[in-house]
Amino acid sequence: MVKRYPSGLALDDFSLEVPTGCFMVLVGPSGSGKTTALKMVNRLIEPDSGELYLNGRAVNSFDPVELRRQVGYVIQQIGLFPHMRVRDNVALVPRLKGWSPTQRAQRADALLQLVGLDPQEYGDRYPAELSGGQQQRVGVARGLAADPQLLLMDEPFSALDPLSRRQLQVEFASLQRRLHKTVLFVTHDLDEALRLADRIAVVRAGRVVQEGTPKALIQEAKDPFVREFLTAAAPIARLEASIEPALEREEGK
Ligand code: ADP
Ligand code: MG
Repeated sequence: MVKRYPSGLALDDFSLEVPTGCFMVLVGPSGSGKTTALKMVNRLIEPDSGELYLNGRAVNSFDPVELRRQVGYVIQQIGLFPHMRVRDNVALVPRLKGWSPTQRAQRADALLQLVGLDPQEYGDRYPAELSGGQQQRVGVARGLAADPQLLLMDEPFSALDPLSRRQLQVEFASLQRRLHKTVLFVTHDLDEALRLADRIAVVRAGRVVQEGTPKALIQEAKDPFVREFLTAAAPIARLEASIEPALEREEGK
């Protein structure tokens, strides 16, 4: 896909295939085009050229509103409605889909439970009465509310303190493995990508420059951003990268 702004190309021949059920993470520096690519999936942005398919159907053949009800979307500034209670925030899409109030409430409570919030305790609160981490959990619950097959997440944990962030990463990774959702997750944090992903696509200047499993990425980083990161910021990943091939050589003997 290609997307040009007056300032230049945001996406330059960006190409990616996300297998069903895969936790795919787009990682790359700020301004590399990650958000632009993500928003094309639910037609918040239209490409200048190129094609996008969802389960084999061209994305531009969907009605945008219908499409957005089928694809979950979770963002950093979570966009919970401040005047709506937590339960109603979660049940937003089910309401738009015309579910009955009872169905909606049941669904919302089950989802709150799923993301680790007691519905009795939190369901009737307003977003401002929750911590950042709890609000982000509500955001995830809302993204899952209509049981979408695909969940788009744009730096959903970036505003959290390191501890809540780590906890949500761990919990969300295990949740995804249980629910078998296809997830397209954007982050500028390679450490987060390595922790969450089945597969990682490294984005640089509007292109996918490398795509593969976290292990493959560590062992053979083709991108300067990744190489720099591995040298500077991830002693553990670096250790694995140097030890694992050595171990495999040992085992091969
Ligand atoms: P990322 O999410 O990786 O930080 P973005 O996809 O938001 O990057 O942006 C990619 C590039 O496109 C950046 O150079 C950004 O400045 C530019 N860009 C994004 N949105 C717009 C817009 N609405 N108008 C003009 N330029 C934009
Ligand atoms: Mg972005």
